[in-house]
Amino acid sequence: MERQFTEEIKSLKLGDGETFHGEGILAVTKALLQSGVSYVGGYQGAPVSHLLDVMVQARDYMDELGVHVEACTSEASAAAMLGASINYPARGAVTWKSIVGTNVAADALSYLASAGVMGGTLIVLGEDYGEGGVVAQERSHAFALKSLMWLLDPRPNLPTIVKMVERGFELSEASNTPVMMELRIRACHVRGRFPAKKNVAPAVSTRHKLDGPPKEFIYDRLAHPPATFRQEKLKADVRLPAARRFVLESKLNETFDGEEKELGIVVQGGLYNGLLLALKTLGLADAFGAARIPILALNCVYPLVPEEIAAFSRSKKAVLVLEEGQPEFIEQEIATFLRRADLPAKLHGKDCMHMAGEYNVESLVRGLTKFLAQHAPHLSTDSGSAWMSAIQRTKERAAELLGVLPMRPPTFCTGCPERPVFSAMKLVARDIGRPHVSMDVGCHCFGSFEPFSQGNTLLGYGMSLASAAGVSPMSSKRAVAIMGDGGFWHNGLLSGVASNLLNKGEGVLVIMKNGYASATGTQELLSSPPEDARMVAVGSSAAHADRTIESTLQGLGVKWLRTVNNYKVGEVAKVYKEAMQTDYKGLKVIVAEGECQLERQRRLRPAVSEKLKNGKRHVRVKYGVDEDTCTGDHSCIRLSGCPTLTVKDNPDPLRRDPVATVIDGCVGCGLCGENAHAAVLCPSFYRAEVVQNPTLWDRLIARLA
Ligand code: SF4
Ligand code: SF4
Repeated sequence: MERQFTEEIKSLKLGDGETFHGEGILAVTKALLQSGVSYVGGYQGAPVSHLLDVMVQARDYMDELGVHVEACTSEASAAAMLGASINYPARGAVTWKSIVGTNVAADALSYLASAGVMGGTLIVLGEDYGEGGVVAQERSHAFALKSLMWLLDPRPNLPTIVKMVERGFELSEASNTPVMMELRIRACHVRGRFPAKKNVAPAVSTRHKLDGPPKEFIYDRLAHPPATFRQEKLKADVRLPAARRFVLESKLNETFDGEEKELGIVVQGGLYNGLLLALKTLGLADAFGAARIPILALNCVYPLVPEEIAAFSRSKKAVLVLEEGQPEFIEQEIATFLRRADLPAKLHGKDCMHMAGEYNVESLVRGLTKFLAQHAPHLSTDSGSAWMSAIQRTKERAAELLGVLPMRPPTFCTGCPERPVFSAMKLVARDIGRPHVSMDVGCHCFGSFEPFSQGNTLLGYGMSLASAAGVSPMSSKRAVAIMGDGGFWHNGLLSGVASNLLNKGEGVLVIMKNGYASATGTQELLSSPPEDARMVAVGSSAAHADRTIESTLQGLGVKWLRTVNNYKVGEVAKVYKEAMQTDYKGLKVIVAEGECQLERQRRLRPAVSEKLKNGKRHVRVKYGVDEDTCTGDHSCIRLSGCPTLTVKDNPDPLRRDPVATVIDGCVGCGLCGENAHAAVLCPSFYRAEVVQNPTLWDRLIARLA
């Protein structure tokens, strides 16, 4: 795995009287243990990967406590795992990235929410919304509403996050309902501290096992008709009122007083820090968070409690609801509450703020200014206006000085094994034309950026082959689906391959077998190479001795199957061209094999530095460009896109075109040489061996050379 959590694991063991320091998401992990959680699962994805990663690495300690940890193969399996809390008083927690993960888990979640739970269940959602989000921009809130599951959105500070985990389990048990807790990217990575408590060994655990199924068979615990009809009534008539009572009595939401008593702001807990910064910018809050306008911070955004909203709004002239994204669920519900209670407070929200997209401080200052202009003209907002003007001036000045800057899209790591496959596809496209390419979720998505620009659709994790199913029969050229090994095991095997075989489909599937779920932090897969194979075969394709993907495909009935070494561009191009042109009717699968370079370097670097420290000889391969031979047409760069292959001024005063050059980050993957050969480029690339701690023999040979 990409990161070692040695220090964080120590923090998990802190007890009464000690202080936890660290990131929000790790505070959640500690809070789960303090809450006596019996089992934990999930599927990795930013920004919540660390929750599960740290638990997987702390397996020995989890065993001591009796906590079962499961690295699930998808969010659907994680959600279904919560079924353990339907019949037993066992607390369970799972995590994944939302909205995408919640979509995958939706089926199991509906059934879980219908049946209800006995043991507390908490679903920790990485709410990947707004600036920095990498998934479709939707909100988890919609799922909470449609299934009647409760949704916590804690203020981004560690004590509040920890309190919400602990209260979340209690809320779940008090209302027999699963609870979701959304954490935005910034909340996951916010740093802070909280007073730790001793971990609680769960009552039901791997150390204290259940002595069998429930004594009494209770049909109503199955989400199956006719029980589902009763369960729907229970949700509305029993569980919802119980949840509202708990939210109110446990004071999950927080009211902060302010001297402008006729005004009020209702804010999602997760936006609270941004709101305070905006108020401070407007001169309406101090540096310690005391604001002049009363605030109701919703750490629980669903269900809302009508009495609480009414109590906050009763004496107010106007209330502003700050709710990110669309539609405005909270604002609409508050409008209903105010109308039913016949309260006169004027309600604002999306009329002052934009509908779609993140609420950053700049937009909050703008929205608050609009709100205050209507209802508090006596409050000066000059400092906010001055701040906004300064930002505008800076932007204009920057545009003046820099002009239009080129896009800087993300790209593959230096030496990534997936880059050569796209080089090969680009080369073949020159001969046979560009096919329709269905992309998938994973590092290979970078192939959709320059210099490859391949990919026509992206429909979700493991969905590339399935999303080509409608295109293939209608295309004269075979459609190509790209899928990572992570996506293959997550959804691609069944949704893509099995479906294609069932329908006697056509097309070409390229599986990038880099060994791990790399894009989410190089977590292990069913087909990850065994630890000893990795150590023995560092840098060689033999590191992928595992053939689980190939044997699974053969077992399923795939007849046209080839495995290629990614870095051999010519070979990959040949096999790919064959797949595109063969007379064979049916699915053609190319398993493109090459270990994730990030993971390889992570493993290699400490071993190399240890070697060098001990004065041992080490040879590093590096590629270079002979600047006298380079023609300056940069075909190599257009075929590779490696960040260490770049340009520099031409040293020849008679030539103006910059020459290609390889800077120091080159990891010697060999793609440069392979591309030059496969694409018949100018012979300017050379392969060099950098010898560190050379022997006398090395020195002698070097001198002679
Ligand atoms: S993490 Fe691994 S697979 Fe992903 S871009 Fe980097 S080297 Fe390639
Ligand atoms: S050999 Fe070329 S593609 Fe590979 S790391 Fe070095 S510069 Fe990048």
